[in-house]
Amino acid sequence: MRKFFRTVFLVDLLKGLRVTFRYQHPKHICTEQYPAQRPRIGERYRGAPRLNTNPETGETLCIACNLCALACPENLIVVGSERNEQTRRKELTTFTYDTSRCMFCGLCEDACPVDALELTQDFEIATYSREGQIWDRQMLEEGPKPTPYEC
Ligand code: SF4
Ligand code: SF4
Repeated sequence: MRKFFRTVFLVDLLKGLRVTFRYQHPKHICTEQYPAQRPRIGERYRGAPRLNTNPETGETLCIACNLCALACPENLIVVGSERNEQTRRKELTTFTYDTSRCMFCGLCEDACPVDALELTQDFEIATYSREGQIWDRQMLEEGPKPTPYEC
């Protein structure tokens, strides 16, 4: 009988609604209000790639060893280099990185012996087309320019 009255008077539904409305106050909202509020990014997050340069000289840190390209399971990094006849060292000429195929596993970053290639914490790199997703050396050295989204 008790169960019958609970069903007829929607007691369980009303109890559920009471809980729902109790948490409607803005102080209880825990959904991230992106893009109004910037999300907290995990320290080890791997986002947009950057090719680091020496902050004093502006010269690339990359020694064109090609290890990042060899480590990449997607084969999306292409390193171009030429040998300097005077120093007998390889010098970087071109560097391309296809962000549309990258799974941000970080293997390339780990393989780099001089910390030249870095996956930054910038995550706003989604686009509406595949155009421009192959980043060249200049784009990689300048670093990502995230779109500032607003609501
Ligand atoms: S993060 Fe992974 S998939 Fe992307 S370029 Fe590096 S090794 Fe390749
Ligand atoms: S980014 Fe690092 S691993 Fe890749 S070619 Fe340059 S020095 Fe070598």
